[in-house]
Amino acid sequence: MLSFLQNNLPFFGYPYKGSHIPCNLCQSERTVVICSTDRRWKNLVTVACADCGLMRTDPMPTDPELAQYYASSYRFDYQLAGSKPPKFHLVRSARDANMRAKALQPFLVAGARVLDFGCGTGEFLKLAKDKGCNVTGIEPGEDYAKFARETYGLNVINSPWQQVNLPAGGMDVISCNQVLEHLRDPMAAIAAINRWLKMDGVFYASVPDMRPSKKPSFERFHFAHVYGFIPETFDAALRLNGFEPITADAAQTTTAVYRKVSETALAGVQIRDPNRARYLQDNFVDGSVAAYIFGGGYLKSAQRRFSKWYRDTFKV
Ligand SMILES: [Zn+2]
Repeated sequence: MLSFLQNNLPFFGYPYKGSHIPCNLCQSERTVVICSTDRRWKNLVTVACADCGLMRTDPMPTDPELAQYYASSYRFDYQLAGSKPPKFHLVRSARDANMRAKALQPFLVAGARVLDFGCGTGEFLKLAKDKGCNVTGIEPGEDYAKFARETYGLNVINSPWQQVNLPAGGMDVISCNQVLEHLRDPMAAIAAINRWLKMDGVFYASVPDMRPSKKPSFERFHFAHVYGFIPETFDAALRLNGFEPITADAAQTTTAVYRKVSETALAGVQIRDPNRARYLQDNFVDGSVAAYIFGGGYLKSAQRRFSKWYRDTFKV
């Protein structure tokens, strides 16, 4: 209960120590501060690497601290309150699974070996299974893994990805949707995905696009997302792990389909570019929470969230 409060009370920091780590993408230790508050109005420092522009939480929570956070505070998103996820979750997950299946349509053929890295409640794998694919999921959340197994009869490995041992080159298609930004070492996870894919295998990769938007800066950050990618840093992370984009607009988005073309980094990847950190710093304006609340911004945002929830719960 205490850690639930510590994780949710506004204007306080999170109950974690973490550690200062170098950039996951380029190993630089030089940073600029982007924002020091998150969407729960709690103190949380986000920095950008001054050399490549990859954003991260600083200090970075350790793996046990992240596990503790998920266990105590992310309950409603990551563990199920009852035996079944709420309807809005299933509606969103199914909508998203359809989009992914559409993007991967030429590759989800009968007999294809498909892995979903962070499969959640399993809606994407269910679609792939219905197309005759041979499917496997990795899902660290026990309740989610259980739901996917029992509801759709899926083969789900219920453990953290670091403990998963799959044969090298054994997959034709791997999908990783809105997962990498949660991990302490996303580069190592992408390297594992490369290892598990056969040469020429296909990788659907998606993370939130963290380019500055009209929203106040603090609305964009929260504890569970320990990295923030923009299209340039996401593309560099994939190319450094031997992937090349298939989709033409890969450079403009953080959702794209890639192909494994090498087991090592591709040549000529533009990792460093100090303009990215400057752009992020200039455009993530550190607005005041008080101005946001009294200016009516908070009400508008709450209204937007409520109408989405209402639509996904009652209008489908
Ligand atoms: Zn960097």
